[in-house]
Amino acid sequence: MNNHPCFNIDSKDKYARVHLPVAPTCNVQCNYCDRRYDCCNESRPGVSSMLLSPDQALYFLKALSEKMPNISVIGIAGPGDPFASPEITMRTVRLVKKEFPEKIMCLSTNGLDLFPYIDELVEIGLSHLTITINSVKSETLAKLYRWVRYNKRVYRGEAGGDILLEQQLRCLQRTKERCIVVKINTVICPGINDSEVEEIAQKVADLGADTMNCIPLYPVENTEFAFLPIPSEEAMGEIKSVVAQHIRPMKHCTRCRADAVGLLGSDNTEMINFIGQISAF
Ligand code: SF4
Ligand code: SF4
Repeated sequence: MNNHPCFNIDSKDKYARVHLPVAPTCNVQCNYCDRRYDCCNESRPGVSSMLLSPDQALYFLKALSEKMPNISVIGIAGPGDPFASPEITMRTVRLVKKEFPEKIMCLSTNGLDLFPYIDELVEIGLSHLTITINSVKSETLAKLYRWVRYNKRVYRGEAGGDILLEQQLRCLQRTKERCIVVKINTVICPGINDSEVEEIAQKVADLGADTMNCIPLYPVENTEFAFLPIPSEEAMGEIKSVVAQHIRPMKHCTRCRADAVGLLGSDNTEMINFIGQISAF
């Protein structure tokens, strides 16, 4: 975990990360997400992003690595879910790992469609993964997700929650069997899942997750949860203390954009503009 600024707080001022915005679509609809913007729980809502093809992403990375040699992590975190369009994600991971075998490859997903790709990802060299698990109860997941699309069928309510949870836990178990370092993201939505965090922490710790990152809801206009309150700093502090009894909490997440570049908390706008120029071709 040493050189990954998200997994190791001591690296955050030394090593930079880049998120390649190659994932165009999503396989679920979270009630806090407006897909016209960056989302995937790894981003700051309200900031629009561009999309790159796998080849454009590689071209960008080659230019970036000359300007920013301290990049240690290359990730895919949106703007949709990486496994809603697995062919794009897998092609990107293959291209990137072939060109930059020494860099850490990291993906962030809701886990719904990840399972069939885990073994191949390990063979390519994926070492770090984030799975967003917002509840371990189907009835709560029914309140958090408007729909879940799995194997070309759309599920709503608890049926959607059942499928999502089953796949997420299966993926967590398998990724740990394959020795991937796994972070769990949980978006704290007051009145919906904030009282269930201990249960989530216990479950993911039992399955071997390495760290848990609780992210306060950022209510986005035009979403179901637009009028939910933002969890207070005090409430988030208490949540992290509860989490700490079961699993190491991540405390320095900066909710990065899906096209973030640079050290955590200080995005490099020059390079983000460069991504925009590439995506225009
Ligand atoms: Fe948005 Fe990510 Fe939820 Fe998909 S999984 S709806 S991209 S926040
Ligand atoms: Fe790391 Fe959080 Fe940024 Fe993801 S959103 S890259 S976990 S700091």
